[in-house]
Amino acid sequence: MHGVSSNGLMISARTTSAEETRALAAALADIVVPGDLVVLSGDLGAGKTAFCQGFGSALGVTGPITSPTFTLHHRYRGRVEVNHIDVYRFDQLDEVVDLGLAELLDSDAVTVIEWGDTIRPALPADYLEVSLQLGEGDDDRTLVLRPVGARWLARSRVLGEVAAHWPVTPTEAGAC
Ligand code: ADP
Ligand code: MG
Repeated sequence: MHGVSSNGLMISARTTSAEETRALAAALADIVVPGDLVVLSGDLGAGKTAFCQGFGSALGVTGPITSPTFTLHHRYRGRVEVNHIDVYRFDQLDEVVDLGLAELLDSDAVTVIEWGDTIRPALPADYLEVSLQLGEGDDDRTLVLRPVGARWLARSRVLGEVAAHWPVTPTEAGAC
């Protein structure tokens, strides 16, 4: 489902298991290029880490992908390098400076940031935001894809094609 709000283009999808969220993330991983940033937002337990697992394994990461909540940053070597960052425990925006985000994004790596919406002023002009929202059932999640900046807006059509594999049901679409 597509919509244009004041926040720009939003593409919604719905998953009904962690496996589906991993599969959607894997499909998105197929369209990323080195230097890309994916920002994940959503409450604790929404599935951000599950998303990273599907995303990372599709990029060739073979080891387990765990939440970097206590270390802030995990670096994995797959088909490309994958930076997995979680800024949940950041108290101050200047802690982001220590991460060297600009350098990470300038490299050949793909970067994914859990709770990235909380450091919005530190984000670059281009990123894909994936907002995960709890649904009615325990395992229901709505994922809203929001391409930000020309680099991602150019991929809007393919983002829509990916999301179409996990459609929002007509009832839920009506409620949007
Ligand atoms: P977060 O990183 O957002 O705090 P996690 O990925 O660590 O969340 O945890 C999500 C939890 O929700 C996992 O236990 C996962 O199995 C469960 N889950 C159930 N349904 C889904 C779904 N549709 N998508 C993602 N996770 C789901
Ligand atoms: Mg997490």
